Formats: sequence, C-alpha cells, structure tokens
Amino acid sequence: MAMMLEKQGNPLILKDIDIPHINDKEVLVKVIACGVCRTDLHIIDGELTNPKLPLVMGHQIVGKLVKKGKGVRDFEVDDLIGIPWLGYSCGSCKFCKTGKENLCDHAKYTGYSIDGGFAEYAKAHHKYVFKIPKNFDPVAAAPLLCAGLIGFRAYNMVRDSELIGIYGFGSAAHILTQIAIYEKKKIFAFSKRGDEESVKFARNLGVYWSGYSDESPPKKLDAAIIFAPAGELVVSALKVVDKGGKVICGGIHMSDIPSFPYKILWEERMIKSVANLTKDDGIQFFKLAEKANVKTKTTIYKLDELNKALDDLRQGHLVGSAVIKI
Ligand SMILES: [Zn+2]
Ligand SMILES: [Zn+2]
Repeated sequence: MAMMLEKQGNPLILKDIDIPHINDKEVLVKVIACGVCRTDLHIIDGELTNPKLPLVMGHQIVGKLVKKGKGVRDFEVDDLIGIPWLGYSCGSCKFCKTGKENLCDHAKYTGYSIDGGFAEYAKAHHKYVFKIPKNFDPVAAAPLLCAGLIGFRAYNMVRDSELIGIYGFGSAAHILTQIAIYEKKKIFAFSKRGDEESVKFARNLGVYWSGYSDESPPKKLDAAIIFAPAGELVVSALKVVDKGGKVICGGIHMSDIPSFPYKILWEERMIKSVANLTKDDGIQFFKLAEKANVKTKTTIYKLDELNKALDDLRQGHLVGSAVIKI
C-alpha cells in the first residue's frame, strides 16, 4: 500500500502498489516510519514543478533493510536504514567532482523525482542511505532525515557563531537547537506572532531567548537561520544580525523577499541559502546527533491519515514533527 500523488493540487490517494524491484546497487527497505516535511506541501501545491507522477512522496524514511543488490557491501539485511531527500547524483558534473553533490546538475530526489516512503516498501541507491544508530527509535529518528540533516547543513554554515537566531520554530529548529546547545551556542528562537505554543516549546528546549519574529532580541546576533517559508523574515533577520552576520535560508521554497535598504546588508552581512545535503553531512550529523542525545518531538499518524498530517502542518497545528508510522 502507498499514498499516491496523482496530480498536483489534489489530495493523496491510498493505493495498492507492487513491491519495488531493486538493481545491483539498490536496497529494499520495509518502511517503519516516514516523516512529513514542508517540502511535501510545496510539491502538492505546485511550488516545486514537474514531479514524477504518479508519485509516492516522503523523504525522511526509516526502515529495515530486507533485500540488497549484489553490489551492495556497506549494509546488511536487518540493518536499520535511513533514506534522505538526495537520492541520486551523477558523480561526473563539476559539483559532484568537488564534493558538492548536493548541487549536482542531474540529481534525483526521494519522494519527488523518485518514489519515496509513504508506502510499505521503499528502495534506494546504497550510496545515499545511512545506517541509523542502534539506540535510536525508528519513529523518533525519521525527522532527522530531512529536518535534521538540512538543519545541520544550515547550522554548519554558522557554526563559528555563538549567538544564533532561528526563525520558524518547527521540526528542523527543535533538532538543531539541541545540537547547538550541546555545542554551547546561545539560541534565540523567533516564532510567528501569536504562536504561543512555539514560544513555549522553544523555551522548554533551553533556548537563551524565545519571542516573536517582529521583536528585537536583547542582543545583536552573529547569525540567523530561517526555516519558515516567508521572504519578509530575511529582512527581519538582517536587522538583528551584527556586522559580518550571516542570514541562512534553510527552506527549498520561500515567498518573495521584499526590497530593503542597502544599509541593513552593509558591513559585510550576507544572505545564503542551503540546498539539499551531501553524504558527508549525513555521516557527521548522525554521529553528532548521537553524542548530543537528540530527542525529537513527534506526532504520529497512520498511512491513511497522511492528508490530515499534511493539513495540520499547513495550518501550523503541529509542535515538532509529523511522522507516518507504517
Ligand atoms: Zn524535507
Ligand atoms: Zn553531478
């Protein structure tokens, strides 16, 4: 069974589908859990164009390896496996050759250009999957595969900073905050005006300051990471970072950034986006997540409740991450 997207703009439909066939380089995974991501909404809504159709979405997959191709030596049957967003890179373009396969010209993405994990079974190329540490619960680990990984890639860009703002306190933010606090950073959490739940949630995670995104924090920040898909936050963040500060946009899609006076970018402030992930990000991240003893807050849904989970994410009714348990 799988939840299928047949046409962008339409709700997903539960369908009976065949178990995927694997080639020599692939692994077949019996899905245990698959996290829901804002990118899934961007695919349904058509903000990301030309998905494979019909499509099984879902790119935060945790499952048990049940079968592997002849050429797969780095994993064994029964291993707990994580399948992330990046599902293929060509290995020969200028980006792949310099270790930036996240920017590959011919990349394929799980749950977008290849089928993902809102299904009983999923397959993946062995080069792009991760072994999940043994002490991790599969449901709790699912949000690490995108929210965690992309959040980590964004964090790596500001890791030399001490005072870090995070805009949009959802799935990625709550994982990243635990890692940053483990590394002795001071986190300033910015939530949408009126979203008291998020303000409290951030406070309970031990952030240095928690407030609304139109407020000024008590100190100038060294850097800010934006996870909410609202372009005006880039301007808000530029106003609160200090000279030389970085503003990182962590999402795959964002509404237009309004024009702003050059003065707030002046003095070597910079704006940068984060795209996808590399295998090396994943290896570093899972080691660190284990050391920092990252705990995710999840809301569990059944496979046929996926439309509801997506709706709850859209309405902002979630604290932490939505995970489909198969
Ligand atoms: Zn994602
Ligand atoms: Zn490439």
